[in-house]
Amino acid sequence: MTTSRYHRLQEITPDQYELEAPAEIEKGALLLDTQTKTVILQLRVNKLKPNISSIMIRADLFDDVGRVLKGADPLILTYSDVNLIETEVIGEQTPIILDPSVRQVEVSLIEVHLTSGRIWKTQSKNLIQKPEQIAILSLEPGLKAQVDREYEIAPPKNSKKLKFLPIQSKDYWVCACGRPNPNSSVECERCGIDKNWGFAILNIEYLRNKFDAFLEQSRLSELEQKKTRKKTTRRLIAIISFATLLTMLIYYTISSIKYVQGLDLLALKQYNEASTVFESLGDFRNSNELMNEADYQRAAELVENLAYQMALDIYRDLNSYKDSEFYHGKLEYLAGDLLTARTILQQLKDNPDAKKYLEKTNALLKFQGTWVDELTGDYIIVVSGREVTYALYERFLDDPKHFYYKVYLKDDNITSDRITFNNEPFFYTYDVAKNKLTEYLEDIRITFHRTN
Ligand SMILES: [Zn+2]
Repeated sequence: MTTSRYHRLQEITPDQYELEAPAEIEKGALLLDTQTKTVILQLRVNKLKPNISSIMIRADLFDDVGRVLKGADPLILTYSDVNLIETEVIGEQTPIILDPSVRQVEVSLIEVHLTSGRIWKTQSKNLIQKPEQIAILSLEPGLKAQVDREYEIAPPKNSKKLKFLPIQSKDYWVCACGRPNPNSSVECERCGIDKNWGFAILNIEYLRNKFDAFLEQSRLSELEQKKTRKKTTRRLIAIISFATLLTMLIYYTISSIKYVQGLDLLALKQYNEASTVFESLGDFRNSNELMNEADYQRAAELVENLAYQMALDIYRDLNSYKDSEFYHGKLEYLAGDLLTARTILQQLKDNPDAKKYLEKTNALLKFQGTWVDELTGDYIIVVSGREVTYALYERFLDDPKHFYYKVYLKDDNITSDRITFNNEPFFYTYDVAKNKLTEYLEDIRITFHRTN
C-alpha cells in the first residue's frame, strides 16, 4: 500500500491535567477515513485510580475553519463498566464516529464515577499546565547510550513509555512518561515507575558521571588489553583458532538447518524455494546436486503443464544433469526451433529417445516451406516450425480478413516417414520419403507441390 487509507486531521496531546483526577486522556487522534469519508475519533484514556465505574469525556466539535460545528452540541462520551475492564488503558480500540464535517476537536475529562458512589468532577481552578520536559531522544549520544545501558542493568517497567527527564515542581512531580503526579505519590499513576528511581537515573548529572566513568573504564581495559596482547601472542593464536572453530561450528549448524529445510521443500514440491535454499548453501554437502534436482523436477512439472518455454530455459541451464540435454532437444523440437533441436539431439547417439526425436525433427525439417495445389494453383499451405497456415490465394496469407486456417502439428502425428494433419472435411498427409503432400476429401485426392 502506497497511500494510507486514514488521513490524520489532528493529533490530540493534552497538556493540562488535574492532579486529583482518577482518570486521564493521555492522547488521541482525529482521523479521516478516505474510503468511507467518515471522521473517526480515537482516544487513549487511562485509569489512574482503582474502582472506577464510568468516565465521561466532553468533545467540542469544530469545522475546517475552526468554528463550532453548526447545529452540533458538544458530544458527551461515556465509558461504562470501567471496573470490569482489566487493562489500564480503555477506549483505544473503540473508534468514535463523528459528523463527517468535523475537522477539529477539543476533548476534556469532565466526570468520573467511582463504584463507591463518589463522583469526581472537573474544576478549572485545579487544572495545571504541564511544564516543558527534556526529551531523552534529544540528549547527546553519549548520555542517550548511557540511558540504554541503565535500562539493560535494571530494566524499568514500561521503559517504552519513558520519553522525558522527570521534573520536580513545588506542588507535584512530572514523570518520565509525561504524567504530572501529586508529591504524595511514590509511583507514577500512569506508568507505575518508582519516583525515586526516575529522579536518580534519569537526570543529566548522574548520566554524565556514569558515562564519564564508562569511558574511563573502556580506556583502561583497552590499555590492559594492549599489554596482554604483547605478552601472550601464542595464547591469542589459540583463542583465534578457537574463534575460527566456533565460527565454523555456527556456519555448519546454520547450514545444516537450511539443508534440512531445502530437503523438506523439495519433498513438498516447492521447487523454486528448494532451489534457492540449496543455491545459497553453495558447496555445503551435495547442495549443488540437490539444487539441480529441484530445477530438474520443476522443469518436468512445467512440461506437464505445457509451459514449454519456461521448462526449456531450465533444461538449457541444467546442461548435462541427468537427461536434461535430451529434454532440452525435445523441447526445442516441440517449440519449433528445429535446427537447434537437431544440433542437440544429434550428439546424444546413445539415447534411443533422442534418436526417435531426431528422426521426427528431420522429417519436419524436410516438410518446411510453401506448398501449392496442382489442380488450381490457388491453395497455399505454409509450414513453419510446427505451425501450418492454409489460405486461398497467396496474397491472403498475411490478410487476417481472409485468413483460413492455422494448426500446430501434433507430436503424435509426426513420425520419421509420415506427417498428418486435418482441416475438416479435408485430410492431409505428407510422405517424407517421397517428399509429397496430398489432400483428401472423401474420394477426391489433390496433390500439392513445393514452390520453394
Ligand atoms: Zn509515569
